[in-house]
Amino acid sequence: MKGQIVNELNRVAIAIAGIDDAGMPNVRNSHRDQRSRLQRRPHLFAIASSDPHRDQRSRLQKRPHRFALASSVSVFVALTLGPDSPRAAQPKIWEEFSGDKALAHVQRLVDLGPRPPGSEAIEKSRDYIENQLRLFGWEVTRQPFTDETPRGKVRFVNLVARFPAHGSAVPSFLLCSHHDTKTFDTIRFVGANDGGSSTGLLLELARVLGQYPNLAAKVELVFFDGEEAYENFSETDGLYGSRYFAKQLADAKTGKQFRGGILFDMVGDRSLDITLPTDSPVEMARDIFASAEALKLRNYFSYFDREMTDDHTPLNRIGIPTLDMIDFDFPWWHTADDTIDKLSAQSLQVVGSVAAYYLSEFALK
Ligand SMILES: [Zn+2]
Repeated sequence: MKGQIVNELNRVAIAIAGIDDAGMPNVRNSHRDQRSRLQRRPHLFAIASSDPHRDQRSRLQKRPHRFALASSVSVFVALTLGPDSPRAAQPKIWEEFSGDKALAHVQRLVDLGPRPPGSEAIEKSRDYIENQLRLFGWEVTRQPFTDETPRGKVRFVNLVARFPAHGSAVPSFLLCSHHDTKTFDTIRFVGANDGGSSTGLLLELARVLGQYPNLAAKVELVFFDGEEAYENFSETDGLYGSRYFAKQLADAKTGKQFRGGILFDMVGDRSLDITLPTDSPVEMARDIFASAEALKLRNYFSYFDREMTDDHTPLNRIGIPTLDMIDFDFPWWHTADDTIDKLSAQSLQVVGSVAAYYLSEFALK
């Protein structure tokens, strides 16, 4: 809607700027009429004076005559459009997220079998993720590194994606998932929910964001490798990819460009119950709850009773407030039964649409 108004405004302002003085009184009179109507509908005034006009205003202030005209035109346009006109038809990013498409990505990943770090299957999963991201317009870079693990040296690879920026825009928000599955010697673990669900969701979010280049340019997507510990989470086991990624940011002193981030993990349980850990950044948690409320999905979101060690931990540690969107109440966690039949497209839809709403209405606004 904003874009439409601005375009309309430009068009009408240009037309009026060419009108000679004889035409002026009518414009002024209609402006007066509209103002009195406007006073009865204050919410419309808020629309007329919202951000998109700010740029134009500063340009127009150098030409006060046109500024006065443009103001009246903007009021006119806002009144003409009214609350129920094209505004209602404007596409809403959160309605474009498809749980079915997200689940289809998960299926493709699960079909590759167990995807532990260093395996051929995880390499294939990276090819898949990378190809999909490129189809959606993203530029992908690989961040390879080697780290010492309880099983010796392992080579890991994070995938980092950015949307080609228009102008000087740099990403200011991180959206993350891990794409590895935990290494097991005794069971066949395909990690449909743990490793698969969040990666499928993030791919679908990448598709949706790709249709909104101005939003996409503000985001960096990260698909971490090596989230899972070989033995137990410690300073040297688990979170390999996020620890490395955070260290790169800290070393390059570029972490400050990110105002925040969301980590998705285990978001596909067909019995969805997202529980934000107590270490969630307070303002972000509040805005996530508000987003869920706005979409009438509030009942799927609550607080967890404790902190969580996950890929958001190294990011929080270097000062990037990052929230772990996780449903840890999953009976098949780290078992051979973490399979796709435990997931639902609807659960992915709930998380994806709330995230998209949060991004467009809060984080990237
Ligand atoms: Zn896990």
